[in-house]
Amino acid sequence: HGRTLTLQRYPVRQNETLQAWDAADEYLINTLEASTQPLDPARPIVILNDSFGALSCWFAPHGNVTCVTDSFIAKQATLANLQDNQLPAVNVIDALADLPANPQLVLIKLPKNNRLLTWQLHQLCQALPADCTVIAAAKAKDIHTSTLKLFEKHLGETKTSLAVKKARLIFCQPNPALAKPLPQPLQWTVPEHGISLLNHANVFSGESLDIGARLLLEHIPVRTDLHDIVDLGCGNGVIGIKAAKLNPQANVLCVDESFMAVASCLHNAQANLDNPAQLRAVANNCLDDMPAHSADLVLCNPPFHQQNTITDHIAWQMFCDAKQTLRPKGQLVVIGNRHLGYGDKLKRLFGNVTVIAQNNKFVIYQSDK
Ligand code: SAM
Repeated sequence: HGRTLTLQRYPVRQNETLQAWDAADEYLINTLEASTQPLDPARPIVILNDSFGALSCWFAPHGNVTCVTDSFIAKQATLANLQDNQLPAVNVIDALADLPANPQLVLIKLPKNNRLLTWQLHQLCQALPADCTVIAAAKAKDIHTSTLKLFEKHLGETKTSLAVKKARLIFCQPNPALAKPLPQPLQWTVPEHGISLLNHANVFSGESLDIGARLLLEHIPVRTDLHDIVDLGCGNGVIGIKAAKLNPQANVLCVDESFMAVASCLHNAQANLDNPAQLRAVANNCLDDMPAHSADLVLCNPPFHQQNTITDHIAWQMFCDAKQTLRPKGQLVVIGNRHLGYGDKLKRLFGNVTVIAQNNKFVIYQSDK
């Protein structure tokens, strides 16, 4: 189409082998570029779940673009790619925020999580006028009959395209008569720890306690000399909240790259702690910009994928950031699936690692700085 974008994934890595866009992005762009329907500059374009900002960058020149994401990393990537390509600003909002009024075009990268998709379809149905064009895109293998049924049920009449380069599009005509209240976040308790947890739609293991987290809850250090504890990759905050209860003298910082996780964690601190001010929660990419030597203990149940890609580079970044952030003699406690081999990585980084607990699936490691 006579335009070139230079796009990077985030965080930027040397010798990156993965692209910052995919065939579904290309298919959406090609389809819209081929369309004869003119875009109205007065009405917003809304883009949901853009991975690293490819779609936001392509449509930014329209001038009235809102990008909705639950990912701090996607937000940083989008802002960086817009700047690198000297493009007009895009309004980047988090997934719990209200959508702009009266959009003309909504582009959706299908999220992996059906709870998030369902929540977003409810939100769109409440907000979209009937003349709004809605196109979702994904790898063909990720579009199931059940996915299309969700669009039909919660947003409006739905059709799909042929596959191109293994990607497919979903076209949906919004039907405001289908609008319903947003689904409530899931709420359940962990009775043996006296913790009740609210989980917004995109929270990791939002339907029940993660089995790794269940083991880690039994092995959180309790010591009066712990002043600053970090729960890195906090999800709904269950680990950080338990650490705060066990160590009432300590400040706990919970960090996650999902805005819905951070919002859930803050809610859960209010609901479960005698002194909710003991716990702070922030969205960040690992511990970017955290002061060195500011924590005595980092607790971490690391993620093993980014977007749709299985990877351990985030776990590795978490371990490196934890080392930076810990005070001398501070500890990193990590839980991982046995086959992920975190022990070797921790040994390499800290020069020491001990196994503090394990079962047939999971191992809890401790490394001292
Ligand atoms: N601590 C929770 C638990 O035990 O149930 C969640 C653990 S889950 C395995 C990993 C968490 O890391 C997810 O909530 C995910 O959103 C978060 N995460 C992924 N990449 C991240 C990053 N770069 N920085 C911070 N958090 C990240």
